[in-house]
Amino acid sequence: MADDNFDVVIIGGGPGGYNAAVRAGQLGLKTAIVESRGVLGGTCLNVGCMPSKALLHASELFEAAGHEFSTIGIDVPAPKLNLVQMMKAKQDSVTALTKGVEFLMKKNKVTYYAGFGKIAGPGKVVVAGNDGSTSNLTTKNIVIATGSEPTPLPGVDVDQKQIVDSTGALSLSAVPKSLVVVGAGIIGLELGSVWRRLGAQVTVVEFLDRITPGMDTETATAFQKTLTKQGFTFKLGTKVTSAKTGVKGVELTLEPAAGGAQEKLSADVVLVAIGRRPFTKGLGLESVGVTPDQRGFIPTNHFKTAAPGVWAIGDVILGPMLAHKAEEDAVACIELIAGKAGHVDYNLVPSVVYTSPEVAWVGQTEEQVKASGVAYKTGKFPFMANSRAKINHETEGFVKFIADAKTDKVLGVHMMGPQVGEMIGEACVLMAFGGASEDLARTCHPHPTRSEAVRQAAMGVENWTMQM
Ligand SMILES: Cc1cc2nc3c(=O)[nH]c(=O)nc-3n(C[C@H](O)[C@H](O)[C@H](O)COP(=O)(O)OP(=O)(O)OC[C@H]3O[C@@H](n4cnc5c(N)ncnc54)[C@H](O)[C@@H]3O)c2cc1C
Repeated sequence: MADDNFDVVIIGGGPGGYNAAVRAGQLGLKTAIVESRGVLGGTCLNVGCMPSKALLHASELFEAAGHEFSTIGIDVPAPKLNLVQMMKAKQDSVTALTKGVEFLMKKNKVTYYAGFGKIAGPGKVVVAGNDGSTSNLTTKNIVIATGSEPTPLPGVDVDQKQIVDSTGALSLSAVPKSLVVVGAGIIGLELGSVWRRLGAQVTVVEFLDRITPGMDTETATAFQKTLTKQGFTFKLGTKVTSAKTGVKGVELTLEPAAGGAQEKLSADVVLVAIGRRPFTKGLGLESVGVTPDQRGFIPTNHFKTAAPGVWAIGDVILGPMLAHKAEEDAVACIELIAGKAGHVDYNLVPSVVYTSPEVAWVGQTEEQVKASGVAYKTGKFPFMANSRAKINHETEGFVKFIADAKTDKVLGVHMMGPQVGEMIGEACVLMAFGGASEDLARTCHPHPTRSEAVRQAAMGVENWTMQM
């Protein structure tokens, strides 16, 4: 049994936890991080952002080699899938990244406890080590960064073979002939894209009458059209009520969301991707008088929970369940602990869908601006008219700016197109400084780049788009 005393003990080693640990180390706080999964990096590095992007990248190249290379004069034999190698390459990259996080802990003098952390009263955390040991930690501050887990769907039991959640869908041992994705959110569409590119027939069943809730509706409509062209089938306004597994696959029972006649849908594999819920099981919240809300989130005010000295960040508190949001929370929370002025502007947390084309946005959707009653103008520019996108045969999509009609302050930027996830950052910086569309429209952009489409769209707010 080991005892130790800290300024900050962080429970959870995901993007919230490990970034909090780095910042705490930088600010000279004596810091410990507790993680139960045996490796650092949390959902994001192990079973989330990074493995999904590894498979998206590999499957995009596989599809390009099979369908697009010949159009630009590269004749290759029909590519053969080596799924075992693809999975190994994914895992090797993940391992390199998680080792990198371990290095960051050492570099910032953070003590890493591999085990399950339980709060045992004010300033007390007990770690049940993965090696069977017990450590009693005392600390001035506890930061809860225990993240989230997939939300289960009643009537559809995940067995990680025929019925999988996102974790299972990152490690299928064979390409299913047919895949039903339940939920048309970002995770479902990204993983659906991976398996469609590798050869599966993909049907997406969604309760709502639209895909990707939270995305600007004009953009979501265009995105759905693009995915349909790629081979996705959508069943919107439909709920899954039960699933039966058998030797021939899975039989789902579907029902119109508004009620009506049932129908059956069969698939080799079903991916349940209806969202994620906060994870606080076994954390000992009751020992400090913290009660999660009805949906399981820990209520906070500037990351402070109801218990003095207990803070919470990342997916376990309200806000977008995204790695970079967890990172923002982490920095702000630790800076507050250190007596500085930590702050996060949740209106400026960008979202990206890493499909092909990608979709990226920041700020308000057009519907939100309309509902707020603010008079606004829009500027839009299609990638079809962008020279770099045209020569690269990547002309699908557009950039849309929404700006206040009186002040020209940018309220939202929405993009669908080639690698727009890399371009949304300039809109974030513009908006973080309260910029106007004219600020961007009058900023020189390099030619030929896709980023010129961003500038042209900004010019469109004042009707002086030049390249269309
Ligand atoms: C398939 C998929 C793809 C995604 N893609 C993206 C993306 O492209 N971009 C993006 O921004 N986000 C993405 N996300 C979301 C992102 O992974 C999460 O928002 C992010 O990981 C949240 O970080 P966190 O630190 O709050 O929690 P987590 O990353 O969930 O980390 C929490 C950690 O705490 C540990 N833990 C829990 N309880 C205890 C305990 N009591 N003791 C010790 N350890 C404990 C868990 O084991 C876990 O490792 C994706 C998620 C999934 C599932």
